[in-house]
Amino acid sequence: MSKAFASQADLADKKITFEQLSPHCWAYTAEGDPNSGVIIGDKYVMVSDCTATPSMARDLIARIRTVSDKPIKYVLLTHYHAVRVLGASAYFKEGASEIIASQGTYELIAERGKEDMQSEMDRFPRLFRNAEEIPGLTWPTLVIGGGVPGKGEAPGRLTVDLGGVRVQIWSPGNGHTRGDTIAWVEEEGVLFSGDLVEYNAGVYTGDAHLAEWPATLEQLRKLNAQALVPGRGEALKGRDQVAAGIAYTQRWVETLFRCAKEAAAQNMDLKAAMAHTRKSMDPIFGNVFIYEHCLPFDVSRAYDEARGMAIPRVWTAERDKEMWASLQD
Ligand SMILES: [Zn+2]
Repeated sequence: MSKAFASQADLADKKITFEQLSPHCWAYTAEGDPNSGVIIGDKYVMVSDCTATPSMARDLIARIRTVSDKPIKYVLLTHYHAVRVLGASAYFKEGASEIIASQGTYELIAERGKEDMQSEMDRFPRLFRNAEEIPGLTWPTLVIGGGVPGKGEAPGRLTVDLGGVRVQIWSPGNGHTRGDTIAWVEEEGVLFSGDLVEYNAGVYTGDAHLAEWPATLEQLRKLNAQALVPGRGEALKGRDQVAAGIAYTQRWVETLFRCAKEAAAQNMDLKAAMAHTRKSMDPIFGNVFIYEHCLPFDVSRAYDEARGMAIPRVWTAERDKEMWASLQD
């Protein structure tokens, strides 16, 4: 029998950790499932990535309520992926009035948000339990480096004062998607990277810009963060762990893309490119959470980019399954 598609066989719940990293910064992590970050000020709370569904968001909200009763006014979308943005509506009852994203993210939601929603729901049935509560796509109200007509506009870099703590938000460059955005609490040295950095978990690159990603990681390295909440994997504490997380992600991206370029240069087909890539990736990353889920999507995109396709193709539920079937032995 062929391997179950994406994460369809992954139905065991993860243990969630909600931990304090600095006076105002918290990490909500779940053993390799998508993480969220929380910044708690004297007046307002900000959530960076808001989980896959309103139901999951309520769990995060309950944990925030153990330490703060302030309105969760700001929701930051680090990028457009459904597992990170479709829980947003749960925060409206908690005082959310601004949903922040970059211009690149806004454009991708408009262009492919619907297809991404369907595709991710099929890939991650566990994360999308109770998906019937999702009211539709999550639209930003405040767009960095652009604007939503008639709604919020913001410059390329935004600083939000939550009361006693300021959060800097900007897009350091393309990588995991076009328009990935980070939150940086400089005074406390805490960085919320979204999926630009992962640690000991799969690095999904199905919508990535692989050639540009290392330079974007270099921008993050320059911040010299003391703690980092990655997109997946445990919170990184101390400069050594932060450096290790960035290096882990860079190694994945560079190994994958090197293999794809070699495959393209030798005119391999996609299946041969997959086998070629496995020779380098399996020994290093083969045992990390969600590796087998990510690899087919990653090789597909890396191979496209290596052959000169600048813009990642849109994944649809149908394209997902076709690609998956074509890469099984
Ligand atoms: Zn993502």
